[in-house]
Amino acid sequence: MTNATKFTPYWWEAAPPRELPETDVDAACDVAIVGAGYAGLAAALTLARAGKSVQVFDASDPGIGASTRNGGIGSGNLKPSISQLIKKFGPQRATTMYAEGVTARADLKRFIEDEGIDCQFDLSGRFGGACREEHFNNLARDADLLNQNFDIGATMVERKDQQAEIGTELYHGGMLRPDIGGLHPAQFHQGMLDVVEEAGVKVHGYTPVQGIRRDGSAYEVMTTGGTVKAGHVIVCTNGYTDGAIPWLRRRLVPVASQIIATQELAPEVMDRLMPKRRMMTESRIMGHYYRPSPDGTRILFGGRIYGQHEADQPLPYDHLYRDLIELFPELDGVGLSHVWWGFVAFPMDQVPHLMERDGVLYATGFSGSGVVWARWFGMKAAYRVLGQGGGESAFADRIFQAVPFYDGRPWFLPAIQAWYAMRDRLGV
Ligand SMILES: Cc1cc2nc3c(=O)[nH]c(=O)nc-3n(C[C@H](O)[C@H](O)[C@H](O)COP(=O)(O)OP(=O)(O)OC[C@H]3O[C@@H](n4cnc5c(N)ncnc54)[C@H](O)[C@@H]3O)c2cc1C
Repeated sequence: MTNATKFTPYWWEAAPPRELPETDVDAACDVAIVGAGYAGLAAALTLARAGKSVQVFDASDPGIGASTRNGGIGSGNLKPSISQLIKKFGPQRATTMYAEGVTARADLKRFIEDEGIDCQFDLSGRFGGACREEHFNNLARDADLLNQNFDIGATMVERKDQQAEIGTELYHGGMLRPDIGGLHPAQFHQGMLDVVEEAGVKVHGYTPVQGIRRDGSAYEVMTTGGTVKAGHVIVCTNGYTDGAIPWLRRRLVPVASQIIATQELAPEVMDRLMPKRRMMTESRIMGHYYRPSPDGTRILFGGRIYGQHEADQPLPYDHLYRDLIELFPELDGVGLSHVWWGFVAFPMDQVPHLMERDGVLYATGFSGSGVVWARWFGMKAAYRVLGQGGGESAFADRIFQAVPFYDGRPWFLPAIQAWYAMRDRLGV
């Protein structure tokens, strides 16, 4: 095990969090948005371009939540597989939900191109490794379902052919999705912040919202910079939701996700291990996600961390290093340049939610797949405020169940994760 040199995201080398100049909080605006990640910024942009006065409040530097820490894999996937989703919601709703992911993914590409955001977006394709033989068959069934319903060109790669995709013996083949790619998440956030500011939105960093109170048909938003009277409020705090939004906090479980970045690897090593430089995932419940850096020179390897953690606490990463070496034994001894982690947000049903409660809008619960979904649902929430269409969604206004016996401290996480890990080991 080697020591990492930096405990900040690799992404911050090219796009460090931007400290915003301190600006006064306006006492009134059409829409107040809580959280300046992809969701909050997408909502702000849509509203500002429709002529609304908008203020965005973030407790910290904008983007310092998950939006500049993630793996940058633009899957727009849902945590449940297509077959699990059909079991849970029935074929019609499940198909509509998946179809929305296809549309949202295509819309992300359109958005990046239209806005001219330089974030190294690449439709590289994604390989999903089957961790057990029977997983290969499940993935093959899912590929059939996906192709029948959405014509996305998913193909299966058998174990004997998988070296063309990935230099490991660990998988039993896998599924190739040509419709999924990757981007540089911090450059994407930075580009969004630029267009949002150009559109006239006031983004306030280090200005936490402390509470929201309904006042007739408007709202009082209490911030550390003063109270704001707003016609509408959109909450986009996802995995970083704190006690200021207690209703949402009881409905989302923040789960820590961690990434390690290797030092630069020789081109011939990268050619052997990730010959097509694709995004990667695994079929286990507690599986890994990983990818090459956008310049193709190093591997960024991510996975969950067990237990309940406080933000900004340094966490051990030897388990991830061990898993990386199990996957690619020839990397044993390779140095790590960066190690970091952040929170993803899981609702009980592990599917995003777009909804209104007491007039406040929520775009949340992206369950580790917010690169596509957060921007999409932030934009949808804005369309709902505008009330002129575009806010429809298969994910809207569903029952958003509170987690039983939970007030924001996920005391039950270690037990659940141990249960998932055991199921992964037993293959059930
Ligand atoms: C390590 C890691 C890897 C990931 N990898 C991927 C991936 O490869 N692909 C993918 O699709 N998704 C991935 N995700 C998930 C994805 O990053 C998130 O779903 C997405 O960024 C969520 O965006 P958001 O705007 O909803 O929330 P965030 O970007 O988390 O922003 C929420 C913001 O709310 C602010 N906030 C909270 N409370 C308050 C308050 N009271 N007042 C003011 N501001 C407040 C926080 O400061 C924060 O900036 C990953 C996440 C992590 C952590």
